[in-house]
Amino acid sequence: MLPYDNINDAAAALGRPLTTAETIWFNYSANKSDYFLYCHNILFLFVVFTAVPLFYVLLDVVNNYRIQSYKIQPKVKLSLSQTFRCYRDVMRMFILVVGPLQLVSYPSVKMIGIRTSLPLPSLGEIGAQLFVYFIIEDYTNYWMHRFLHCKWGYEKIHRVHHEYTAPIGYAAPYAHWLEVLLLGIPSFLGPATAPGHMITFWLWIALRQIEAIETHSGYDLPWTPTKFIPFYGGAEYHDYHHYVGGQSQSNFASVFTYCDYIYGTDKGYRYQKKVMKELKDGVKSTGLQNGGSYNSSVDFKSD
Ligand SMILES: [Zn+2]
Ligand SMILES: [Zn+2]
Repeated sequence: MLPYDNINDAAAALGRPLTTAETIWFNYSANKSDYFLYCHNILFLFVVFTAVPLFYVLLDVVNNYRIQSYKIQPKVKLSLSQTFRCYRDVMRMFILVVGPLQLVSYPSVKMIGIRTSLPLPSLGEIGAQLFVYFIIEDYTNYWMHRFLHCKWGYEKIHRVHHEYTAPIGYAAPYAHWLEVLLLGIPSFLGPATAPGHMITFWLWIALRQIEAIETHSGYDLPWTPTKFIPFYGGAEYHDYHHYVGGQSQSNFASVFTYCDYIYGTDKGYRYQKKVMKELKDGVKSTGLQNGGSYNSSVDFKSD
C-alpha cells in the first residue's frame, strides 16, 4: 500500500515525475496491502514450478536426436505418468507446507525491511542485491547440504530428494518437508542481509527456483545463458551429485562451484570428468561415435 492519494502526490513526494516503471507500480500496488503483494510469491512459485519444468518434459516428448544428445543420463527415461506423479507430489508439498509457510512468514519479511514504496530500485541495485543473495544462498546451502549427507541427516531427511538418481526439472523441490523448510533458510538470509524492494524479492524467489529447475533438468544444453556465468555449476554438475547418490561426497553446492573446489568436495566429479574425457578421446580415435554422457559407455561411481 502506497502512502499517496494519487500519482501527483507521489511525484511531489519524489520531487520528480514518476518513471514508466514507477507509474505501472503505482497503478498496480497503490491500493493493495503489503501482505497481499508479498503473497504474490505463492502464485509465482506455482506458476514457475508448473511451467518451467514443462519445457524439459517437451524436450523429452519431442525426442529430437540432437537435443537428446544433451541429455546427461540418456539411458534413464521416465514415463509421462512417472513425471506427473513427481509434479503431483511437489504440488502437494507446496499446498501443505510452502504455501502456509509463506502465509505466516510475512512478519519476518516486514521485520527485515522489504519495502513496497517508491522510488523503485535501479537495475544496478537489483542486480547487486541478487548477486549477494545468490552468494549467501550458495554458501549456506553448501554447508546445510553437507550436513544432510551425514548418516542421520541422509536417512531421516535427505534420502527423499535422492530418490531421483537421474533428476528431472519437477524433482528440484522434491524433498522431505523438513528439508524444504530447512533449505528455505539460505534463501531468506540474503534478503535479510541486504533487504531490498518487493520486486527484487519476487525476482529473487523466481530466479532461485528457475536455477534449481535447470540444475535438476537432466539436460546440459549448450545455449543456456547460465553458461556465461563464471563458476556456475549447472545441470551436469548437480546431476553428478544425484547420480552418485547417498554416499556422494561431491558437488554439494547449489549454484556455484567454488565452495566444492575450496573445501575439496569436487574431487570425485573432476576425476570422473577426466576419465570420461579420456574414454571419449579414445573412442573418437577409433572412429566410433558416443553419446557423450557419464553413463553412456561406462557405469561407475568413483566416490
Ligand atoms: Zn544431496
Ligand atoms: Zn538435487
